[in-house]
Amino acid sequence: MTDTEAFERRVREAKRRLDDRGDDALVLFPSQNLQYLTGFAEEPGERHLLLFVPAAGEPVFFVPELYGEQISQESWIGDVRTWGDADDPVPRIADIAAELGLGGGHLLVDDTMWALFTQDLRTALPDATFGLASEVLRDLRIRKDDAELDAMARAAAVADETVRDLRAMGADAIGLTEAELAAEIQTRLEQHGGTGVSFDTIVGSGPNGAKPHHHHGDREIQPGEPVVLDFGTRVDGYPSDQTRTLVFGGEPSEEVREVHDVVREAEQAGVDAVKPGVTAESVDAAAREVIEAAGYGEQFIHRTGHGVGLDVHEAPYIVDGNERELEPGMVFSVEPGIYLPGEFGVRIEDLVVVTEDGCRRLNDTDRGWRC
Ligand code: ZN
Ligand code: ZN
Repeated sequence: MTDTEAFERRVREAKRRLDDRGDDALVLFPSQNLQYLTGFAEEPGERHLLLFVPAAGEPVFFVPELYGEQISQESWIGDVRTWGDADDPVPRIADIAAELGLGGGHLLVDDTMWALFTQDLRTALPDATFGLASEVLRDLRIRKDDAELDAMARAAAVADETVRDLRAMGADAIGLTEAELAAEIQTRLEQHGGTGVSFDTIVGSGPNGAKPHHHHGDREIQPGEPVVLDFGTRVDGYPSDQTRTLVFGGEPSEEVREVHDVVREAEQAGVDAVKPGVTAESVDAAAREVIEAAGYGEQFIHRTGHGVGLDVHEAPYIVDGNERELEPGMVFSVEPGIYLPGEFGVRIEDLVVVTEDGCRRLNDTDRGWRC
């Protein structure tokens, strides 16, 4: 678990970066950014729940009365101010901002903040200007600390255990629908210690596997066809995300075998390219070159990977044009795929952590198609 010291360190670093840029404060609402700085995790709701992190001064939580007790217990922030359902929150926000000296400042609001709340901030602070919190927090969150790496390694281990269960099912999975297999996956993730799913489970059988964002449906799993299995869970709030493409029974065609080999080789080439100082786009290129050389370049229709943290998709994006250099502590997916519309798809995905001299995979189960 992340301890108070780590949260304090993150806030200190955020304030230093605000100060360096000449920005005056972060204003967050229930989001992964808020969770990252305070430990408090909640879905957004219609009541104003805001955290002010000024460049100078201590953070202030402004929360609905019904959350007061909970936030005092679940976050390390000492200054928690509550408002009741019968109050108008807007003048209270104006008062807090004035107290923090933010009236005419430049405030970085949560990227996902609802318009309802940004409009009220504008009303409460007519002289302020606004930017996005990610301008400061994206770069802060991009390198994971030990508590984060530990949580993600455990989440990845839960996913790996579940992949082993799926392989053990083998031909027993033939005849199940994709939805039934997805339900089985979700049960196993929980059994192995995960909490919920980090995104809607993907079970793409046969031609459905050619649609990278197909979730799951009523199609029954057939012998000899590849099934794209992309799923994840959370541990201590941090997600896993990996993909295996399995053939549950029967013999796959020559083409399925060939495509699977190419994707596996591309994934390995992408992972082999990861080390500090290389660009994100060079990892994409390393994986893509293998697929292009095999003649399937047109069928690899997405970027090679994405950063993973409290958000399943965050920086750094492993994509052509991203010249960002990799640094130790970054975590991202390497997930090339080949998609043949109407026939089948193959994707293989692992998460990697950039280390001082290369990288370490968080997922380590067999990448082949055979169960
Ligand atoms: Zn995935
Ligand atoms: Zn992914």
